[in-house]
Amino acid sequence: EDGTPPAGLLGPAVLDGLARRDRAGTKFRSGHVVVCGGAPGMTGAPCLSARGAMRAGAGYATLAVAGALEPVVAARAPMETLTLALPTAPDGGLAADAAEPLLERLGQRAGTLVVGPGLGRGPERDALVRRLAAGHDGPLLVDADGLAALAGDPEAVRAHGGPAVLTPHAGELARLLDADGAAVGAHRLAHAREAARRSDAVVVLKGDDTLVVAPDGRVAISPGDAPGLATAGTGDVLSGAIGALLARGADPFHAAAAGVWLHLLAGRRAAAARGVDGVVAGDVAEELAAARHAGR
Ligand code: AMP
Ligand code: MG
Repeated sequence: EDGTPPAGLLGPAVLDGLARRDRAGTKFRSGHVVVCGGAPGMTGAPCLSARGAMRAGAGYATLAVAGALEPVVAARAPMETLTLALPTAPDGGLAADAAEPLLERLGQRAGTLVVGPGLGRGPERDALVRRLAAGHDGPLLVDADGLAALAGDPEAVRAHGGPAVLTPHAGELARLLDADGAAVGAHRLAHAREAARRSDAVVVLKGDDTLVVAPDGRVAISPGDAPGLATAGTGDVLSGAIGALLARGADPFHAAAAGVWLHLLAGRRAAAARGVDGVVAGDVAEELAAARHAGR
């Protein structure tokens, strides 16, 4: 209606062209996802994200967390993951000064950065997320409290040089745009487009009808029908899954759209196995692998 390409309904074809581990594959070539998050009271979220990344195909996942929380996170994390202890702020979460050692690790290991799951809020995180976005060259995904750190300023993502994906739900998008929550709920596509334009990133507006919007106007819509996903932690799993596809070299629109599709299938599979009310986010992470396998 306004000169932008028509929206496409997500389906199995979105998995076409995704890289797979081949005969000569190595863990280094399967993609490295670094999840930066966690705060007192929220140590599960980054762990779920890392689990989503590993089950979506990452060869490596590292949990980058406040040093004070590292033993707790390491004990909860999937045993396949690494942890990186970073400077701790007075409130027990990540300090702004965590940015430099984290950027160094990302540079050494060609990592994809997922920042936000369980990160917590406050001025230290506001500064941390901005320094990470500006200093990291590889793929970037910002979710959850990582988005809160950019409230009213989606343009801050433009300082990032590489591919970028933002994964807000409606409330997070309203805060990011400094917009009215009811207006975002009533005009989801328009607000997702505004965020994509202002940030120059792919925006995944989550909900039962998730929208994937690129800065160039492309839109993919999830067919939904996975109410088992309506439970805590499923968004964290999605961030890791998209991160794994980014780490494997998919462009941000493809990675976001394919990640949303795999997450939807995984949610349906988990509900088929457990009953729709029995699904927990960890089940969705585990089902990502079968969803990917069946989709091939
Ligand atoms: P979050 O809001 O960050 O916890 O993320 C929740 C995740 O679950 C997002 O990927 C949503 O799209 C998904 N989700 C929540 N409710 C539903 C639903 N009723 N149908 C399909 N997906 C849902
Ligand atoms: Mg969330």
